[in-house]
Amino acid sequence: MPPSDTIIAQRFVQLALALEQHLPGYVDTYFGPPEWKEQSIATGPRPIDQLAQEAADLAAAIKQEPTFDDQRRDYLGRQVTAMQTSLRLLQGEPLPLVEEVTLLYDITPTWVDEREFDEAHRRLDELLPPGDSLFERLSQHKQSIEITYAQAEPLLSIITERLRQLTRARFPLPDEESFELYPVTNQPWRAYNWYLGHGQSRIDINTDLPLHITDLATTLAHEGYAGHHTELSIKEARLLQAQGRPEHCLALINSPACVVAEGIAVQALDVLLSEEEQIRWHAEEIFPRAGYLHLDAVREHAIDRVMRELGSVWDNAAFLLHEQHQSTAEVSAYFQRYGLHRESEADKAVEFISDPVSRSYIFTYGYGGKLLDALFAAKGNAVQWFTRLLTEPVTPSQIRAWLTP
Ligand SMILES: [Zn+2]
Repeated sequence: MPPSDTIIAQRFVQLALALEQHLPGYVDTYFGPPEWKEQSIATGPRPIDQLAQEAADLAAAIKQEPTFDDQRRDYLGRQVTAMQTSLRLLQGEPLPLVEEVTLLYDITPTWVDEREFDEAHRRLDELLPPGDSLFERLSQHKQSIEITYAQAEPLLSIITERLRQLTRARFPLPDEESFELYPVTNQPWRAYNWYLGHGQSRIDINTDLPLHITDLATTLAHEGYAGHHTELSIKEARLLQAQGRPEHCLALINSPACVVAEGIAVQALDVLLSEEEQIRWHAEEIFPRAGYLHLDAVREHAIDRVMRELGSVWDNAAFLLHEQHQSTAEVSAYFQRYGLHRESEADKAVEFISDPVSRSYIFTYGYGGKLLDALFAAKGNAVQWFTRLLTEPVTPSQIRAWLTP
């Protein structure tokens, strides 16, 4: 019989697979024993109250297991709290949005002061060439940085190779890892990393949405090096294979681990290259290779940073829709006003935050990114802290504890 800690971790994985039968997509990636997955599919959806009882028993077992260190207990305990919350939502319990996000992700979202968006608009106004409304000027700017997938393809492999070398030099990337890129259509996201196990990923790029030459390095860093693919391949090699912890044979879409994963992905390029180095790379290699000689890399970088701040518009939109019960038309108007979205993009964004799984997920990007920002600012040595995030079962609570003197 396996040791008691392994049995608990296996129960965790099997419960997650059972939840997937009610919530397709809940298990974002699974690379554990194939027979566990086959069995859960053959069994089909089990009664939710039965799963809730198993989750409660599992939570109690995690608290009592004598062989767990504090970090593993914290990680598994919070992942199971998230599962219990997903089960409550599946049972139809109406949870307020803040409570839902707190229990699922171990972060507490708050309303973002709109003056931050006004300030971002003011800076965009300074950065963009003069013209009509800010919205129009931004649209024209976006057109000027558009690139087709075919044009981008040779650049994508050059960028990937450089990011891989930089990641390899800083972090314990397994030898056999690699990923492949695929253009896809009909997806709600811009790009997605599908981790396949054994250090392999497939990164999908959605070609329905315009690609921007200024985003290529950020996207490949986010999905690949040193973002999602890097984190999962390191955790598979270290935590699953070397340390024999079965809970790392999957990733759950609504769980505290997502905040750490998105934090890592959002910061991935900045941990590899300073802002000056990123600007120089775009000016000297990325823009000229594609013939985008009209672009000023310093200005493009500044615009990109301001646009990131407008990412929090999504958080407020979720509050408006789910807490203040505004209509979809009103929330779409909010995306257009503060996020400077086109009407069609704004409608898509409302659709995305209406989905029961995505509506809480959108908070992971901003909160993950800010948590890591705070960590690196307070502690210095970003590479060393980033290594801990890539190699240990970290939760947002643990990062907050590191920050507390
Ligand atoms: Zn991501």
